[in-house]
Amino acid sequence: MQRRPSAPSSARRRSLVAVGLGAVLALTGAPVAAGAADAPEAPVTALAAAEPVLPADAPRTGFETSGGAAWTTLEEEQSFLAAVDAASDRVGISTLATTAAGRPIQLVQIGTRQLSAREVAQRPSILVTCLQHGNEPAAREGCLEVVRDVALDTSPATQQLLRRSTVLVVPTVNPDGRAANTRANADGVDVNRDHLALETLEAQTIAALVRDYDPEMVVDVHEYGGRADVYDRDLIRLWPRNLNVDEGLRARAVELADDFIDPAVEAEGWSTGVYGIWNGPGGEPIAQVAGDGDERIMRNAVGLKHTVGQLTESQTRALTAEEQADPTVNTNRRVDTNVLALRGSLDMLRTQGAELRRETAAAEREAARLGAAGEGYIRFGGADNVLPTSSELLLDPPCAYDLTGEQLDAVSSTLSLHDIRVVERADGTARVPMGQPARGVIPLLMDERAAYDLVQATPVDCA
Ligand SMILES: [Zn+2]
Repeated sequence: MQRRPSAPSSARRRSLVAVGLGAVLALTGAPVAAGAADAPEAPVTALAAAEPVLPADAPRTGFETSGGAAWTTLEEEQSFLAAVDAASDRVGISTLATTAAGRPIQLVQIGTRQLSAREVAQRPSILVTCLQHGNEPAAREGCLEVVRDVALDTSPATQQLLRRSTVLVVPTVNPDGRAANTRANADGVDVNRDHLALETLEAQTIAALVRDYDPEMVVDVHEYGGRADVYDRDLIRLWPRNLNVDEGLRARAVELADDFIDPAVEAEGWSTGVYGIWNGPGGEPIAQVAGDGDERIMRNAVGLKHTVGQLTESQTRALTAEEQADPTVNTNRRVDTNVLALRGSLDMLRTQGAELRRETAAAEREAARLGAAGEGYIRFGGADNVLPTSSELLLDPPCAYDLTGEQLDAVSSTLSLHDIRVVERADGTARVPMGQPARGVIPLLMDERAAYDLVQATPVDCA
């Protein structure tokens, strides 16, 4: 983390000369303990430390062609993505769902060749989701630029990234919200409070992606409106704080924030911080205003599903005289910090994808083991920086939950989207064993002690 710099450059033009030694060490691709399939490779300059090498006629977003004066329209997004697809042999675009208003929620897959979901699940991948909140436009702009850059960049780092892994981007999770410039979707629902109940098409779409593609990393891109005195950082980020998240994977998510996102953003002179934390004059934390362990939030939900998850938020407010005098300085800074945070995230996948794949798989196995044995705790509250109360702590978790036929009917499709295995009985009732990777999610969905339970299932004690 660092304080807001006095006069950051207004455009994203990287200069290695300006990068501090520590950042160079962090950003330079260290030799990688690659999988057996990879031949030894010389270290390459990190994505976060170099401009993408693009053809002169590479497609540009509406935002870019306007110099930051206008956000890319939904129509421009379609033509931009089609142009990127046409210019690149690495890109596949699919429509995952269509909103009631007829707008597509699209997935862009970028790789050396197009893979099925099952094939992507067999190798390292990252899922980047953008614009859950329709009135946070720079999140989407950053994602669109990263799609183009990864699709067309000829630099060794991007080639290495795509040789080893797959990049999945949903540039516009909430297109109706973008069209109306609203936080919520067309039904007035905050999509980022729906990743447990999965009532919205938008959250259902993301859950199905996580289930089917099984990404190792998930970065969810947002914007925030801070304040000049205590909440002024250019880009803030946060890992999953929910206490049912695997501790090893939480540590990896903190590492993503500290060792990849922050150096990438700070190397360009922008400031970073922790989402939800106000800072005093010395940079010390003085209050927490957001960023808890709420399992309905995607940042926590993807952590519970054994991914290395992260929320990023670019500052919307014009906090410098330069930004107040010229709105495009503000808009470009917002987009550029998002691009940098994503490029840093891609460097983690590029350099550690194989390890992350092993670790996320091991976390899934460990959760299943704990669940089957009735070991470990379940927490219905608290966070990694707040102990749960005694009533929020389940000391002796059950080994299963029993659902009536009526309850099963109510949650069956939701459980499927969460990749939760259900054992149905001939009489229409069902048992949900805790001995499965979703062990940390199951009680949050169906235990009466949970804050946001959908049904009150009957806990089944371990034999
Ligand atoms: Zn948001």
